[in-house]
Amino acid sequence: MKIKFLGTAAAEGTPALFCSCDVCERARKLGGKNIRTRSQTLINDDLLIDFPADTYLHVLNYGLDLRKIKTLLITHGHDDHFYPFDLVYRCSPVFAVYPDNAADKKPLELYLTRNSGKIMRPYFKKERVSDDEKAISINYITKFKSFVSNGYKITPMRASHAAELDPVIYIIQKEDKSLLYAHDSGYFPEDTWDYIKNSGIVFDFVSLDCTSTLKDGAYGYHMGLKACCDVKSRLIKEGGANGKTVFFVNHFSHNGGTVYDDLVELAREKGFNVSYDGLQTEF
Ligand SMILES: [Zn+2]
Ligand SMILES: [Zn+2]
Ligand SMILES: [Zn+2]
Repeated sequence: MKIKFLGTAAAEGTPALFCSCDVCERARKLGGKNIRTRSQTLINDDLLIDFPADTYLHVLNYGLDLRKIKTLLITHGHDDHFYPFDLVYRCSPVFAVYPDNAADKKPLELYLTRNSGKIMRPYFKKERVSDDEKAISINYITKFKSFVSNGYKITPMRASHAAELDPVIYIIQKEDKSLLYAHDSGYFPEDTWDYIKNSGIVFDFVSLDCTSTLKDGAYGYHMGLKACCDVKSRLIKEGGANGKTVFFVNHFSHNGGTVYDDLVELAREKGFNVSYDGLQTEF
């Protein structure tokens, strides 16, 4: 399975749009991997996780080809993860012309919880969208109920985040590979721990919410590096990970108190890789 981090910041971006704090000033000065856009990740070439306003920037800068995406998973309805207004541009021939073999065209399969979908309802008239029924199919998911899309087995699990949105983290499996994608998660709720333990899955790759990076007390809503260490230890202890599992920290805020260049060594000492925009790897 290939994974490409397209956007690795929390909601405000790094540097944050209007901010003059030390972290944002340092990011502006250093540039490169210290510049982070809003949250999005590509699996292989056909599964996309989250759809922020920066999606178009990811198309331009990182070769994201939205025409190849068959499955779109939304973690939750915060705007750094879900900006549905740009999906409208798939839904009319005025905005999106399809090639001659359009008869083969299948809807983009969009998966999200009903509460996270509330934001898009004014823009999509029906659950099967707009004047082009082949544009997007909207699928409301239930926590801990697996589904299959384009050959991926996907399981949403409960996150400790904005409860009113019914946010989820995802297990994504294909062939013999498995990924745990946890943004925005906080320290996992006990029913999520139980599900992982009972599933018997040993993850090949784990990406954890590290929004509050250097804040040791950050556990609920968002995690810092200390909480990520606790998640990693518990996963290993309960069998969800082993010595071969690759761990990444991802989704960073200026409130976490550091930038990529200053974090990468500290994270490595604790057994974590640090994501940056455009990073691609395979597992
Ligand atoms: Zn977020
Ligand atoms: Zn700042
Ligand atoms: Zn959020």
